[in-house]
Amino acid sequence: MYPIAEHVSLKNLNTFRVEAHARWFTEIHQEEDLSLLFADQQWKGAARLVIGGGSNILFTRDFEGLIIRMNIPGITHQIDGESVLVHAGAGVVWNDLVLYCVERGFAGVENLTLIPGTVGASPVQNIGAYGVELKDVFHSCRAYHIKKGEVITFLPEDCRFGYRDSIFKHELKNQVIITSVTFKLSLNPQINISYGAIRQELETRHIDEPGIKDVSLVVSEIRVSKLPDPSTIGNAGSFFKNPVINEQQFVHLKSAFPDIVHYCLPNSTVKLAAGWLIEKSGWKGKQIRQTATWKNQALVIVNVGSALGSEIYDFSEEIIKDVNEKFNITLEREVNVF
Ligand code: FAD
Ligand code: NAP
Repeated sequence: MYPIAEHVSLKNLNTFRVEAHARWFTEIHQEEDLSLLFADQQWKGAARLVIGGGSNILFTRDFEGLIIRMNIPGITHQIDGESVLVHAGAGVVWNDLVLYCVERGFAGVENLTLIPGTVGASPVQNIGAYGVELKDVFHSCRAYHIKKGEVITFLPEDCRFGYRDSIFKHELKNQVIITSVTFKLSLNPQINISYGAIRQELETRHIDEPGIKDVSLVVSEIRVSKLPDPSTIGNAGSFFKNPVINEQQFVHLKSAFPDIVHYCLPNSTVKLAAGWLIEKSGWKGKQIRQTATWKNQALVIVNVGSALGSEIYDFSEEIIKDVNEKFNITLEREVNVF
């Protein structure tokens, strides 16, 4: 088992690049390490936090407990007719999994190209982009249940996947540690280019019948041009979720703001673009000390230098307040705050 280190800096373990320290820190390289770790009663009762790539986390202070970084490697696959089961360790970099699949013609994850982070974290917020969510390709995952001291298999119906949401963010938060995920992909691609940005980019390149490689490449290029690269500017992607409201609320808002950016969802609800709400509240490109909203997408908060996690949090509070005053909508943070 990997040793337990003390007073470890988390600065290079979170993509916001904020400074914070873990009282204790360990890495897990194989599933069996978890039962060895929790055989020690000290860790069963201790405050603990599991991390992958730290790309959806904001540390606002030091963590006075044990941080467990998941580093289980390995990708394998098994073809059965037109379907493929791809199995990956929790520590596999998400985009490495996407490339593994795209290179082999395994369709389903191409729209999720270049999302930072690890495979183990992907079910936690049911990652999504460009009209595809993890739940669309999720077969099952294995997770170590700390209290029970055993590994459990979770099927889709056990995970309560929702919009950027799952059971792992609620009842099972810090109770289970995902050790691997199995994805159900297809050799028969159903290309999803419902998002205008992908369609436009394919049109510009005169690609009429795109394959999964085309979609993956286009998504990758759009993302590079639009989003700040965490290796050069600290951020955790979208800071807030897009709010989903009912039709009645929407009609009211639309009369006050006729150009409001929105998407009608199947169950008579409407999704609003949080980035638009933030922009219209006067926050696009705004900077306070070392914290700012990203110039190309106001939904992304960036650390332009050496912002403290608490400053980034306070900045987000101000945004919530102003959006609420203008639109009577309370933005919910997508980023996990500690
Ligand atoms: P971490 O940030 O380390 O952890 C996130 C949460 O998951 C924490 O609560 C943690 O405790 C928990 N967790 C992590 N690993 C495990 C595990 N093995 N078992 C149990 N719990 C665990 N997200 C999207 O959905 N779509 C996007 O398009 C997208 N784009 C992004 C773009 C940028 C530039 C950035 C910086 C982030 C983006 N994100 C996006 C957010 C982020 O990449 C995802 O949420 C990703 O899944 C986080 O993975 P991670 O390994 O970094 O998780
Ligand atoms: P965008 O294309 O400018 O669109 C703005 C918002 O409108 C998005 O948040 C998206 O919602 C929604 N939208 C756009 N077209 C839609 C359609 N055809 N149907 C339904 N909803 C639509 O967004 P962007 O910032 O460049 O991001 C592109 C994609 O990458 C989005 O899916 C976004 O979620 C994802 N992304 C996520 C993060 C993150 O950290 N979570 C960071 C960067 C990008 P959805 O967000 O619900 O898709």
